Amino acid sequence: MAATIARMEDLNLHHIAHKQFERSVPFADELDGWLGIAQWLFEPDRIIEVTMPVMRDDGYVHMFRGYRVLHSTVRGPGKGGIRFHPEAGPDEVKALATWMSWKCALVDVPFGGAKGGVVCDPHQLSQREKERITRRLTTALGDTIGPFTDIPAPDLYTDSQTMAWIYDTYAMMHPGEATLPVVTGKPVALGGIGARQGATAQGALYATEHFLEIGGIAGLDRVDGATVVVQGFGNAGRHAARLFREAGAVVIGVSDSQGGVFDRSGLDVIAVERHKDDAGTVATYPDGERVERGAILEVPCDILIPAALENQITTSNAERIDARLIVEAANGPITPEADDILATKGVKVLPDILANAGGVVVSYFEWAQNIENQRWEDTDVLEKLRRRMRRATEVVATKRAAMVDGLDSYRSRWLDAAGNDRHIPVPDLRTAAQTVAIGRCRDAALQRGVWP
Ligand code: NAD
Repeated sequence: MAATIARMEDLNLHHIAHKQFERSVPFADELDGWLGIAQWLFEPDRIIEVTMPVMRDDGYVHMFRGYRVLHSTVRGPGKGGIRFHPEAGPDEVKALATWMSWKCALVDVPFGGAKGGVVCDPHQLSQREKERITRRLTTALGDTIGPFTDIPAPDLYTDSQTMAWIYDTYAMMHPGEATLPVVTGKPVALGGIGARQGATAQGALYATEHFLEIGGIAGLDRVDGATVVVQGFGNAGRHAARLFREAGAVVIGVSDSQGGVFDRSGLDVIAVERHKDDAGTVATYPDGERVERGAILEVPCDILIPAALENQITTSNAERIDARLIVEAANGPITPEADDILATKGVKVLPDILANAGGVVVSYFEWAQNIENQRWEDTDVLEKLRRRMRRATEVVATKRAAMVDGLDSYRSRWLDAAGNDRHIPVPDLRTAAQTVAIGRCRDAALQRGVWP
């Protein structure tokens, strides 16, 4: 039965982003009288698809496809990562760009949302091939990216080296111009910020700590001593495992694309990191029990951190999730239907647009630092990040409480076609976070006006 339901679940990410948006619209004041504005806020501004001939190391030319979506510029230039993944596609990139708009608005950085993807299997590519794809993509995107138009960053299977190639290619195309801020997540030697690599996980930790401090989970008021499971051991997951461990959590399970490892008494995260560097996977780490890739999500724990891919918690496994809090370091790891199941089970979710916003916050610091030709201290970066993450967490928790209190009035304001109260579900933290973000985008849009 569960399998049948799972098959019926719509896993198209852009449809999911739309469903989530629709859940927030009734709570976003003034959008009810401005339905055209709601559509404007949701639809992407620009979708670019490029086809790129790239020479493989064996001398054959292979055609690669790339996408860049600029979702919204009402609050500033586009900002968002570029991923290399076999399943990258227009709908996925559109959804990720949309979530970037909400994320930037929620943590109040002056950017809109964007995202890019190249359809490729990074495991099958040499470093030289990745470089050629990256440089070709940068050339193909031309002036649609730029320090004040659309600013890429790393994402799935791209990193600071990828950003260095983008910067270098773009700089060659714009001699004599100050082009460092065209990308963020660069190496420190190229104007990057040392703390950027761990920033997504650091932000997730700050948000989690504050959420627990303000009573978000009854009976769990600190990270110290909490049991934690992390799915994914790349930029977001690996740093999350280490930083949560340093904050006193007991990391009992981690995984990557090849499988997971579990130890109820706590893993030695530093030793797991060393093993990942040597063996290329955490799955074969010897001091723990081996766990199947999907089963890691079902390990009982206090805090579950999905930090790998989208659509990991769906109707097919949501019932079996045994965590008190889920912190979405990944983008879109939970489907709307799974959100509903988790809410019924009493599992709280710190949504992606809040939990993983640390990356874009520090990207913003890098961009500002590059424009000013300054070099900020890492301690300043972390303190500014901490303040922003705590503020955003508080805003979301307060907004949710107000939305729950006013639920009856929202329900009676929103009537269905027959004039009856429409049943609006009790809002979760995701709906609250999106409502704040969409409200800020709406304000910017209305203050700027519709031109011409
Ligand atoms: P990454 O390429 O550095 O790491 C991805 C990790 O996920 C790898 O360890 C990989 O082995 C693992 N993985 C892949 N498929 C898996 C599966 N089926 N099960 C378990 N593990 C699997 O990517 P990243 O930058 O860490 O991004 C991970 C997620 O975090 C993505 O959703 C990304 O959009 C999101 N995110 C990243 C950043 C950032 O700063 N890097 C910022 C915000 C959000």
